[in-house]
Amino acid sequence: MQEAGVGSGAAVQAGTYQDGSGAASEVAELRAAILDKLTYFIGKHAENASDRDWFVATALAVRDRIVDRWTETRDRIWAHHTKRVYYLSLEFLIGRLLFDALNNLQLTDPVRVALAELGVDLDRMREVEPDAALGNGGLGRLAACFMDSMATLSIAAHGYGIRYDHGLFRQRIKDGWQLEYPEDWLSFGNPWEFPRPEIDYSIGFGGHVEAMARPDGTFRHVWHPGETIEAVAYDTPVPGWRGRHVNTLRLWSARAPDPLRLDAFNRGDHVGALTAQVRAEAISKILYPSDATPAGQELRLRQEYFFVSASMQDLIDRHLRQHDAIETLPERVAIQLNDTHPAIAIAEMMRLLVDIHHLEWEAAWTITTGVFSYTNHTLLPEALETWAVPLMERMLPRHMQIIYLINALHLDRLRKSGEVSDEMVRALSLIDEHSGRRVRMGHLAFVGSHKINGVSALHTDLMRVTVFRDLNGAYPGRIVNKTNGITFRRWLYQANPGLTRLIQEACGPGVVDRTADLKALEKVADDRAFQRRVAAVRRANKIHLGRIIAEQLGVKVDPDALFDVQIKRIHEYKRQLLNILETIAVYEEIRSQPTRDWIPRVKIFAGKAAASYHQAKLIIKLANDVAKVVNSDPTVRGLLKVAFLPNYNVSLAEAIIPAADVSEQISTAGMEASGTGNMKFALNGALTIGTLDGANVEIREHVGPENIFIFGLTAEEVEARRRRGIDATTVIAASPRLPEILDAMASGVFSPDEPGRYRGLVDSLRFHDYFMVTADFDSYYARQRDIYRLWRDKEVWWKASLLNTARMGWFSSDRAITEYAQEIWRVPLQPIG
Ligand SMILES: *Cc1c(COP(=O)(O)O)cnc(C)c1O
Repeated sequence: MQEAGVGSGAAVQAGTYQDGSGAASEVAELRAAILDKLTYFIGKHAENASDRDWFVATALAVRDRIVDRWTETRDRIWAHHTKRVYYLSLEFLIGRLLFDALNNLQLTDPVRVALAELGVDLDRMREVEPDAALGNGGLGRLAACFMDSMATLSIAAHGYGIRYDHGLFRQRIKDGWQLEYPEDWLSFGNPWEFPRPEIDYSIGFGGHVEAMARPDGTFRHVWHPGETIEAVAYDTPVPGWRGRHVNTLRLWSARAPDPLRLDAFNRGDHVGALTAQVRAEAISKILYPSDATPAGQELRLRQEYFFVSASMQDLIDRHLRQHDAIETLPERVAIQLNDTHPAIAIAEMMRLLVDIHHLEWEAAWTITTGVFSYTNHTLLPEALETWAVPLMERMLPRHMQIIYLINALHLDRLRKSGEVSDEMVRALSLIDEHSGRRVRMGHLAFVGSHKINGVSALHTDLMRVTVFRDLNGAYPGRIVNKTNGITFRRWLYQANPGLTRLIQEACGPGVVDRTADLKALEKVADDRAFQRRVAAVRRANKIHLGRIIAEQLGVKVDPDALFDVQIKRIHEYKRQLLNILETIAVYEEIRSQPTRDWIPRVKIFAGKAAASYHQAKLIIKLANDVAKVVNSDPTVRGLLKVAFLPNYNVSLAEAIIPAADVSEQISTAGMEASGTGNMKFALNGALTIGTLDGANVEIREHVGPENIFIFGLTAEEVEARRRRGIDATTVIAASPRLPEILDAMASGVFSPDEPGRYRGLVDSLRFHDYFMVTADFDSYYARQRDIYRLWRDKEVWWKASLLNTARMGWFSSDRAITEYAQEIWRVPLQPIG
């Protein structure tokens, strides 16, 4: 193993774990390849190359090695007629790709050395890669982890999505408020992608449908769109672990069929000549920053249909190039819908099969339900996607006809099969008649799929009795559970090389191939010497994060303090507010009893709020206001610090998670579908304080109830309280701390410049409190005290931490994807290790 350039005294962040790579000849070849790219692709000398030039040169040199394996993979799939998986997602939150590629190809060490010989520091250079934020949060990150696992397990898979010019907005905090700025990840080009201008499809919108009578009295339908837009493919190779198999992420970009109207241009109308192009390209211009609420805009529906239609045409083309009969599609193809955003694919598939490939309706329907399956991600009523019928009729007239027919046949079938009340028909219908007529995309996805899955055991159970209660009764057995997972390659091996080295020492180097081997850590969990080394790695990670906090916020934090972290989208159900209330409680206590032996603590927050979500933005402001007061209060003496880090994204998560002592997973029970942040933290050895919500329930089962801090109402209790009517006033009055905390907030202790700023927020807790913040506060507060007690006993603390890492193996996305492959897609896979 090549050690030069890594150096035994290097910071914990630098260097990799053992991956069995790094011959000297390999280094020389890479150095030559990087220099070659710098010279002939970028056109620069080493002397005047910037870090960005070096990054692009390195990425291109590494990409060449991926391409060879990519072609091999394609040939193999083609030769074996392997069944393919298509993962359709409006979001892929992939983050930076350089370390994914280096690690999966075992090239990190040799590239580090090759660059060092060229005078370039890999860790510094890595920072210039833009963070590809083509997603809002968990749903998009899941798609990215799944892409990594599908390639790792040698599944013949394609990801399909949109190549947004601008990903999720860049967040800045000014005077404590969130400001949104456009994100510009493509401004210096993207070395990972291959433009495929020759792969383009026409996507129609609007217009009318012509019904043409056939001699036998049936009708053929011809859609004459009023507008046509081109979808152009951009391919990014996705190499799996050890580079055995390379899949493709194909993202679509929108173009107008004509670059400009020459007649208008020649008339002197230079702007008008471009309007059609601008309208067309708007489709792939920007990611909607709506996390849990549908954007509702027409453009959003255009985006959904645009990428779905291109993807369906593309996969049918590929199928017909290899197999002559369209009827064999279900044997060769599985299509996964990541949430309802791509659900219009069901109607589009029917349109292509019936109108274009001239299949009978029944045959087409058998194919459609044979290929599709759908993942539900939320039970929040406001996030269940629906589209107004008049909008659908105007924009997708043929699809609306098809949806009506699907609905009629679906309801007929149910009527014939037994007693169905009018009330049940209303609940089962694809059309919601309650508030204007709207198409329920979740229902469409359900009826058109052979399997529907939830993303944690609890969420799947709730799905069966809430949103899909009646559909589950009508189609029993369709709903299955697939608890989410994360790729350990990014979230442990890359993000935390120091801990990974220790794990390899204890569990053997092969642990990176077999997550089950993590269990061997249990044997050293109470070995004091080992614990100390794990603690030293954590401390180094905290120093690294401390530097980021100092740079970003000018706040100095003590690496020996307890780092208590909540990073995720800002949402009322995720209850950052509960965490802030506890922060205020601690602050008040330190002020009233300054000489007690307080445990120094740093509360770390990060997360974006949807631009239109005022309450969430106010919570960001509150966190920053509390930070300002607490951090500058001399009586606190640094015993409590609050840091809100701006612009949460994948790269920031990679820096924060390995430095966390405590992971906050405190959503109102029944509201978080799964969570994956919870898994990343526990895997890295942070102890969770959390509710029995989403995958927290299963994390508790795996790590053991003594190694996780569970508190608060259960989903059932939340439901019961809501039915009963929430009596927050009584709850608050009975709490030993809440009245004082809420009074402080309401009276402007944290907003002296605007004393009334938080009165509305406090009133919403006092009189309504839908999210049960006050109901859960006392048990949350008590659990935080348990954490303090454990922190004082370092031996027990580190044992619990190591047991968390040891027992998190099941939460690998390799496990999740294996389950999808076997039970939903029925495709072959090749396990690693
Ligand atoms: C993992 C991840 C999420 C999801 O976090 P939750 O805590 O599960 O909501 C969101 N954003 C980023 C950048 C992530 O890496």
